Order: sequence, then structure tokens, then C-alpha cells
Amino acid sequence: MIELDNLDVKILAYLQSNSRESFQEIAKCCLTSIPTVKSRVDRMLELGVIRKFTIDIDNNKLGITEAILIVNAKPGAVSRITQELRGLEEVKELYVTSDSDTAIVSRVAGDMRRILAIQERINLTDVNNIRILSVKNAFTKDSTIPLASSSITLTCSYCDKKMTGDAVKKKFDDKDYFFCCTTCQGEFEKKYTKLFSKV
Ligand SMILES: [Zn+2]
Repeated sequence: MIELDNLDVKILAYLQSNSRESFQEIAKCCLTSIPTVKSRVDRMLELGVIRKFTIDIDNNKLGITEAILIVNAKPGAVSRITQELRGLEEVKELYVTSDSDTAIVSRVAGDMRRILAIQERINLTDVNNIRILSVKNAFTKDSTIPLASSSITLTCSYCDKKMTGDAVKKKFDDKDYFFCCTTCQGEFEKKYTKLFSKV
């Protein structure tokens, strides 16, 4: 496992909430220099900790339909169908259940006509049943890593104590801060509020 220090984790936390956050802003908030932030980000990119900077697009606003595709197939056909589905642009996520009743469950997005046509675009040999359910409401949790509950060593933003796991996470000004206990969180909150009420 790759070791990250507190500054790396802080930088990651900023970039997770906004991948377009400027190095200047991050450097200011982390009390460090822009070249330091840049070299840390470059290192995490090199190590593959950061795979890419992405954007979150609202499919609804673009009239793109989301649907769930469920394919029940004979066990012997699962790997072939999985391969075929993975090659389709509309397939966004794919899960194979490990039940005796093997199913391939996939989240698909695109034009509804194209989604329905998936049934004609894959080889249906040994497929028992195929269903396409259009999504009415989606509740997606963000895909940010749970920094507060990971095994990464963090330093309490208030008392500087090192801690692993079970950190208390709190957002201030839309930025994540980590604390060793709720007391430290409370103290930090007091200090923080005072600091910013002066401005
Ligand atoms: Zn603390």
C-alpha cells in the first residue's frame, strides 16, 4: 500500500470536492507553496493514487435516460455476455451476482431507443431472461474515498495527534477536516467561527 502523509490527504480531500480547485487555493489553505502542491499531485498521479480528474455531468439535463439491465443467463454463458456488454458504450457499470441464479446487473445510460436495442446487439443464446427497467429516481452517493474511515494515518486538525481510522470528519466552508475526537472538533469549530466572523 502507498503511504500518504497528512498533506497528501489534505490535497486529496480538496481535489475530491472539486477537481478544478486551483493549486494556488489549495496551497493557501494547506499553508504551503504552490510548487509543493504541484509536486505532491504529480507524485500521486505517477503512483496512480489519482487516476484522473473527472467531471460530474447531470444526465437528466441532457435528456439521457438511465436504466437497469438485468440478464439471467445459464452459468456457462455469463462470461461471454459480460464481455459483450462491457464493449457497449451505454453500459456504465456491471455486476455479476454470485447467486445460483446467475444474473448480470448493469447500469446503462443513453438514448432509450439504443438502450432497448441492447437486446438485439448481444447474442441471446443461453439467456433465460432479459429485463430493462428505466430508472425513475436515482440516489447516488458520491464516489469520494472515505478518508475518515480508511487506514490512512491522519493528523487531527486541532491537536495534531496522529490517528488511524475512526476520525471525526466535519465540513467547514465546504472543505473536509479531520479530528481525533468530538472535543477537538468542537474546539476547532469555536476557533474557526471566531476566525471567520472577524472577516
Ligand atoms: Zn485532536
